[in-house]
Amino acid sequence: MLSAEQIIHYQPSADLLNNRIILITGAGDGIGKAAALACASAGAKVILAGRTVTKLELVYDLITAAGQQEPVICPIDLEGATVDDYDELCVNIIDQLGRLDGLLHNAGILGQRTPLNNYRQDVWDRVMQVNVTAQFQMTQALMPALEKSDDGSIVFTSSSVGQVGRAFWGAYAVSKFAVEGMVQVWAEELQGLGSVRVNAINPGATATNMRAQAFPAENPGELKTAEQIMPAYLYLLGADSSDVNGQSIKAQAR
Ligand code: NDP
Repeated sequence: MLSAEQIIHYQPSADLLNNRIILITGAGDGIGKAAALACASAGAKVILAGRTVTKLELVYDLITAAGQQEPVICPIDLEGATVDDYDELCVNIIDQLGRLDGLLHNAGILGQRTPLNNYRQDVWDRVMQVNVTAQFQMTQALMPALEKSDDGSIVFTSSSVGQVGRAFWGAYAVSKFAVEGMVQVWAEELQGLGSVRVNAINPGATATNMRAQAFPAENPGELKTAEQIMPAYLYLLGADSSDVNGQSIKAQAR
């Protein structure tokens, strides 16, 4: 495994993800969009999953205009999708593409920035559904497609507030602690069994809509862009990290 410093500065080969099929949730905006473009640029066939189809279509157009592998658009709302929807997705992936080599759980919602004492139950439920339960259900359902890969990589998205609790981060912080825990449990269960590995990535402060929602007074120009944090994502989704399992990786020093 590379050191933390080496991962942040990882330089992928141009064909790192050739012949790999990678599903990315929340691929229409922010970090997910940057990840979709970076994966396609490194040779992957990307399944663009998300809830706003017009945004996914824009990413599709960017990838095809660049002459890269034609992506697949997969409309899915993690708030309303059921286990049956995820099972159907798995059947479609196996039927049409044969397998899945990478699964990036990127989509997430912030919820309220307010004391837990005041936290609304309906917001709590939505955050836990999108940030935790849907990701568990999707991973479980897609495992047969991942097991068909020689090197299946599952990457969950964590956060600094999922490692050390911080006031007013509410269900978001709790959901990211849950993600870190789910990664550890799943990684230990899969260790030595086959070719699927599970890790977490913490993007760190990155200029996106979510960051602006959390810190409206901040100057986004002082933050890393989503494009700048892609080396760690590519490292985890490619074969250079095939010996990495159960880790929580930082995508930037901050
Ligand atoms: P954005 O809000 O910019 O993007 C979030 C993406 O998730 C969007 O594409 C959004 O779709 C999608 N999404 C939200 N809800 C759903 C849903 N119900 N079903 C399907 N897709 C959904 O956030 P970021 O890019 O900043 O965040 C990406 C990940 O990184 C998140 O997990 C976040 O918690 C994490 N993170 C981000 C940090 C940062 O500084 N930016 C720091 C630490 C962690 P749509 O565009 O249609 O709304």
